[in-house]
Amino acid sequence: MSKIMLVTGGGRGIGAAVAKLAARRGYAVGVNYHANADAARAVVADIVQGGGRAVALQADVSQEDQVLRMYGELDQQLGRIDALVNNAGILERQMRVDQMSADRLLRVLSTNVIGSFLCAREAVRRMSTRHGGQGGAIVNVSSAAARLGSPNEYVDYAASKGAMDTMTIGLSKEVAPEGIRVNGVRPGTIYTDMHASGGEPGRVDRLKGAIPLRRGGTVEEVAGAVMWLFSDEAGYTSGSFIEVSGGN
Ligand code: NAD
Repeated sequence: MSKIMLVTGGGRGIGAAVAKLAARRGYAVGVNYHANADAARAVVADIVQGGGRAVALQADVSQEDQVLRMYGELDQQLGRIDALVNNAGILERQMRVDQMSADRLLRVLSTNVIGSFLCAREAVRRMSTRHGGQGGAIVNVSSAAARLGSPNEYVDYAASKGAMDTMTIGLSKEVAPEGIRVNGVRPGTIYTDMHASGGEPGRVDRLKGAIPLRRGGTVEEVAGAVMWLFSDEAGYTSGSFIEVSGGN
């Protein structure tokens, strides 16, 4: 029987690449989306066309009631989760800290940290051997920003990714005895639409010179690292981070 994975924010970018690669590796995939149902359905259609199993699941991951409903739908439509990818994330416009509002920080924390927390908690409730589960694994999509700090651009976003990393470490220790591994990937500058939300669609190319490998990364390169963390080869790896950041 195939294992079951939930990918948050799976309609485009890194999340869509993870969902498609997971399906090719035999997972049945729940493709979560917030507002763009068509994009998530296109990912599902692509997977089904390739002979895989997938369903689109709506939820704003920052809202507890919506996360609970989404997990209920996942349980019913695919079964009990084995693998969670906390990928949904937001980046607001580039801004210096002296212009930044506390509301903006709250918005970013709500999706990136509270969303990841809520989805991880529901995964643990189903995976943990303490709750009669069979174990599982969680991968949090953090960012190199957690180490680099994103000065002059998005210190709020960097802080949210730092919080995700600390949660990854704590959670990994807490649930390891219950059969659950928790790890993170830290992408650097990846070609996705996210940079347009930051107000600079061409940002990846602007930053090329400062990246040791002298190019932006692809979503497939991030997806490959995520999937390694779910593999049997990663069976002794927990509380770890893979840098997918071109050497930065
Ligand atoms: P993206 O903007 O293409 O994808 C983000 C996805 O998350 C979108 O589908 C969006 O709809 C979804 N999302 C946002 N808020 C949501 C919510 N409240 N509930 C459910 N879904 C929500 O960007 P991406 O580059 O593919 O980003 C994926 C992850 O990778 C993010 O966590 C991002 O922070 C991280 N990341 C990206 C880069 C990069 O350079 N692109 C670098 C480091 C980390």
